[in-house]
Amino acid sequence: MKLFLILVLVLLVYYLYFKKRKKVVRAKDEKRVADLVFDEACQTYVKKEEALKIEVQGKTYYFCSKACAEKFLAKTKNLS
Ligand SMILES: [Zn+2]
Repeated sequence: MKLFLILVLVLLVYYLYFKKRKKVVRAKDEKRVADLVFDEACQTYVKKEEALKIEVQGKTYYFCSKACAEKFLAKTKNLS
């Protein structure tokens, strides 16, 4: 009987430990979702993991679509 109680206690500790770990992972995901980048072509914010990343003269730019990236590149070419 004593052994059974210890087993239950161990299981409970494990359950609480894994529940805590899941919460930490979820908090990390929320932080990643909130990570936004600015699209200079259409002046909107895009999720970083969904954005198109392009490097121009050492600077990194993010766009919501290929069309936006091309629009921005055409604009920068006209300026220089
Ligand atoms: Zn865009």
